[in-house]
Amino acid sequence: LSAEEQELVETIDEEDVDFLRLQFTDILGTVKNVSIPASQAEKAFAEGIYFDGSSIEGFVRIQESDMRLKPDPESFAVLPWRDTESGSAARLICDVMNTATGEPFVGDPRYVLKRAIDRAEEMGYTLNAGPEPEFFVFEKDEHGRATTTTHDVGGYFDLAPKDLASDLRRQIIYNLEEMAFEVEASHHEVAEGQHEIDFKYDDALTTADNIATFRSVVRATAEKNDLHATFMPKPIAHINGSGMHTHLSLFDNGENVFHDADDEFNLSDTAKSFLAGVLEHAPAITAICNPTVNSYKRLVPGYEAPVYVAWSDVNRSALVRKPAARVPAASRIELRSPDPSCNPYLALAVMLQAGLDGIEKGLEAPDPVRENIYEFDEAKREEYGIDTLPSNLGEAVAALEEDEVIQEALGDHVCEKFVQAKTQEFGEYVADVSQWELDRYLEAF
Ligand code: GLN
Ligand code: MG
Ligand code: MG
Ligand code: MG
Repeated sequence: LSAEEQELVETIDEEDVDFLRLQFTDILGTVKNVSIPASQAEKAFAEGIYFDGSSIEGFVRIQESDMRLKPDPESFAVLPWRDTESGSAARLICDVMNTATGEPFVGDPRYVLKRAIDRAEEMGYTLNAGPEPEFFVFEKDEHGRATTTTHDVGGYFDLAPKDLASDLRRQIIYNLEEMAFEVEASHHEVAEGQHEIDFKYDDALTTADNIATFRSVVRATAEKNDLHATFMPKPIAHINGSGMHTHLSLFDNGENVFHDADDEFNLSDTAKSFLAGVLEHAPAITAICNPTVNSYKRLVPGYEAPVYVAWSDVNRSALVRKPAARVPAASRIELRSPDPSCNPYLALAVMLQAGLDGIEKGLEAPDPVRENIYEFDEAKREEYGIDTLPSNLGEAVAALEEDEVIQEALGDHVCEKFVQAKTQEFGEYVADVSQWELDRYLEAF
């Protein structure tokens, strides 16, 4: 064992941890856990933990299903919401290894992100990423099933003397802080029952791990309060959906290479090429950053979510915004399309690879658009050369199938499995008959 692993084995013992949850993420972004008794910690570090990968979405064919989880000691965290009477549980985020070759498994999303990070490193850069995840909190019905009744306006609110919403948010933040998150801001969002909690930016891998952890902390804390928190992008029609704006900047030896004091927008040429790469690959990126049928119910005009491929330094209707930065280190771009149903590892990997492609090819960013693009008609969009994001999952997957840079970013295995799963998902949706159709046509015809 490394010194770090040895120390951790001792910590696990001292902190009275009973169970270790070995955590990894499948291609669709679902967090998976394999629970082991804490007494197995040493073995887990020394040999890894074997599991059958064929039961995991998008992982492997049956014949080659033996996978090994390799826990990352840096990711150790005691889970704050478990009762401590029976000892506590801790989690470790794992890399997935191929037992046959001993190499990282190409279908592991964390490995896909690591490859992107390595490429950035070779080019001399480190990505810093800061997400702004939004989510809704709903009441449950008498059978314990999630409803779409928001917890801060439903009957609940009338009965309760205190602000349940901010109380729950406080509990969530407290739990996050116990898990070493640095929460920077939290507020009620525009919609009823909707919240946003922003935590500090970090390197890409830490941020992806953080997003995965964040979602479980939010859901588990809501659950403890008999509420259901959801990261579904658009649970209620005609009001704002939930996004996960992502702030991006590249650093080189602690210097923010996105900053240029002499530029009108304080953006360096490197930043503008990165931005141009993100715009260039925006349609294919959308498949990964907005991976559900429901994601496209959010990406419609009028609800602060992007629809058009453009950037702006002033308005929020664009896909990419350049936020005002108080200090050079804070110069960054904000990608506004991602939603919190995405696989955070794959999402950050494609954002980064798209940007690096822009730098490598020396792409130039178009001029920013300073008007409200929602109000443009088609002619005006054409005049400005503004494209539209894919309008449904089918179009997004088609865009991914056209974009070799993003396919390469994912790698053959992940790309193939992802396209397969999403094509099926979209096909099922297209074949379904929705309530909207029944309401509209059943009696009309
Ligand atoms: N909820 C909006 C979205 O869907 C964002 C609102 C905001 O943070 N300004 O992206
Ligand atoms: Mg925000
Ligand atoms: Mg917000
Ligand atoms: Mg934002």
